Amino acid sequence: MQFNVRSNERDYETDYDVIIIGAGAAGYSAGIYIKRSGMSVAILEREAVPGGNTALSPLVENYLGFKAIEGSDLAEEFRKHYSEYGKIITEIEVRNIKKEGNNFVIETNRETFTARAVIVSTGTTHRKMNVPGEEEYYGKGISYCSTCDGYLFKGKDVAVIGGGNSGAISALYLNGIAKNVSIIAHSKIKKCEDAYIKSLDEKKIPFILNAETEEFLGDGKKLTGLRYKDLVTGDEKTVNLDGVFIYIGVIPQTSFLKNIGVKLDSHGFIVTDDKCRTNVPGIYAAGDVIAGSEEQIATAVGDGSRAAITLYTDKMNKK
Ligand code: FAD
Repeated sequence: MQFNVRSNERDYETDYDVIIIGAGAAGYSAGIYIKRSGMSVAILEREAVPGGNTALSPLVENYLGFKAIEGSDLAEEFRKHYSEYGKIITEIEVRNIKKEGNNFVIETNRETFTARAVIVSTGTTHRKMNVPGEEEYYGKGISYCSTCDGYLFKGKDVAVIGGGNSGAISALYLNGIAKNVSIIAHSKIKKCEDAYIKSLDEKKIPFILNAETEEFLGDGKKLTGLRYKDLVTGDEKTVNLDGVFIYIGVIPQTSFLKNIGVKLDSHGFIVTDDKCRTNVPGIYAAGDVIAGSEEQIATAVGDGSRAAITLYTDKMNKK
């Protein structure tokens, strides 16, 4: 006799009124509204630990109701709140979506799920620099996550590459751990918010502008520094470093939407109307994955609620 061990152990269904893809701020927010509208819901999350980029943010100081909170703690508050309402199924990566009759069929690395509607809240992942040494020294001095790896650089010299908000927040976080922290940015101006510039100045964290990183240097076993070009003078400069944290932008997580025909912009972000509808009826999007997103926790939470309310309204209008 044949039986499927996983399905016997499973503590979740595979059919829901609404499937949400991605357990970040947007997905949790959408899930609460969906369930409170009387629909069944589950969130499918690729990682073992849910929370998305909120959980990876060292310190959040601009989310209403929390003057300053570690991202992992805020994400845990989100998880606990959503869990009062719906299921989170972790370590499930959505790979494809297709339509069969009234159902969306959601193919993953494990089971196949069905739902009458889908909210995509898959956010973004970090962009790579694609310069020599980046692959070789990844995990040997190069990281894309200061909260995950910062502790490895206690008392050492590190730099953050990228002068936007994420880079600034990471530099401020690393300042409490590493001996020396600097920010190296390709731009002519400091691109982060004034509040972060003020904090960086107060903590005397140097900002090296007009600096195009050309190569990561190492001894074959670990990173020893980097070489950059000064875009004003044209000079080549070398900095000795034990660690580098790269925050140069993001890539939307949308490759699984190719076959279903959801419209994406030229960078792969999802194009929606102002109510979070995509061009495919029944598929909605929320959070950082939307084209033109402000890439903030507050806006992701707002999008999640908007997507869920629109979905419910569309459903009611169809009746
Ligand atoms: P995400 O948080 O990215 O969540 C998406 C989820 O989808 C992830 O858990 C991912 O694993 C999952 N997923 C992706 N693809 C799949 C798939 N195919 N199948 C299943 N699951 C999938 N914002 C602020 O407002 N204040 C701050 O102080 C702040 N600091 C930040 C610091 C750093 C270092 C970073 C990187 C970001 C920071 N942000 C901050 C931005 C904020 O974290 C994001 O705007 C927010 O997390 C977006 O939420 P989201 O739900 O749209 O996406």
